[in-house]
Amino acid sequence: MKQALAKPIAMTRFLDANDVAALVRGIGVAEAIVEVAACVREDFSRWADFEKSARLASHSNVGVIELMPVSDGMHYAFKYVNGHPRNAQLALPTVMACGMLAEVATGFPLLLADLTLATALRTAATSALAAQTMARPGARTMALIGNGAQAEFQTLAFHAMLGVDTVRAFDIDASATTRLMRNLAGVAGLSIHAATSVDDALRGADIVSTVTADKTRATILRADMVRPGMHLNAVGGDCPGKTELDADILRRARIVVEYAPQSRIEGEIQQWPEAPVTELWEVLSGAARGRVDDGDVTVFDSVGFALEDYAALRWLHAAAMERHAGRYVELVARAPDPRDLYGWMMAGDVRAGAPAARAAQTGEASSIVMA
Ligand code: NAD
Repeated sequence: MKQALAKPIAMTRFLDANDVAALVRGIGVAEAIVEVAACVREDFSRWADFEKSARLASHSNVGVIELMPVSDGMHYAFKYVNGHPRNAQLALPTVMACGMLAEVATGFPLLLADLTLATALRTAATSALAAQTMARPGARTMALIGNGAQAEFQTLAFHAMLGVDTVRAFDIDASATTRLMRNLAGVAGLSIHAATSVDDALRGADIVSTVTADKTRATILRADMVRPGMHLNAVGGDCPGKTELDADILRRARIVVEYAPQSRIEGEIQQWPEAPVTELWEVLSGAARGRVDDGDVTVFDSVGFALEDYAALRWLHAAAMERHAGRYVELVARAPDPRDLYGWMMAGDVRAGAPAARAAQTGEASSIVMA
């Protein structure tokens, strides 16, 4: 990434949910996941460059709302995201997100975007990246437990990035599995089977992805269900009091987490505070091994970390600029004389002469060049 301060800053790029959906459709979902995965890998390989913190969570008895900031000194990103498992009853998604990318040099917001779809992309991309280093080579069958909003993205990521060709899907809501199968019916080289139970889903599975939503200490997988050599991609247990795996599974597994200080509060390992863990950046950089032996049980204890959203935001920004997606908006007030905010406001038609408005008409981009 390089920074060019010569050009004046113009306006903030804005992508609403429809803009992001059209952008991803235009690129192709699997291609988009692969591109996001490359950004996640690149950013995790610069782990030491980032100022990191566990996300700030506000819990209620029905869900959680979180703020997730991160910065590398050039760009600052944050995501707003919720997790409300009962939202489906209100015709709302369990997970909704939006976020911002800003330049550190001036604090100017470069991009404001829906991140609901991008969250699904980056979660799936990160799961598949972890599995590339943790699953047994040649793993082709995945059990997918929990077939909600994330399910298609997880399936496509494992199909595109690991060559998974068989998915055994189970959900307590059979209509979710039917939807998943209908949505992905046309994907070449992929077959999805509806399983009748978790045990049925696990038959022949090399990889098990748990992507359920319930704000409780659930036991989606019992220890006796897990066979040597399996890789578990545990995505749904992502806040305090919300887990999917029997704690006994963790005690016999190699565990990889995104950012240990956050995962110890939110992940499966909240059940075992002193669990020995490796961080994802270590296995992605080759500094540590995700799997040592064919018989290892490996667990990617995914909770979602701000750096994945940073990667998703910079991917979205670059893709939107390249494909002219979304539009520029005057998100923040920019008076011609920056110290005369009052005068600018009282002048009325603030758009007419403002440099930002001129920049919008000429399509001038912001001062940061993302490369
Ligand atoms: P969703 O509500 O759309 O889907 C959840 C599905 O799980 C539903 O179809 C539901 O019927 C099913 N389910 C619930 N309990 C189950 C059980 N005991 N057995 C089988 N199926 C069960 O939610 P979503 O957007 O797909 O998200 C799924 C989970 O992943 C949520 O808990 C969410 O918080 C989490 N999530 C994690 C990350 C991350 O980075 N780790 C990112 C996004 C979402």
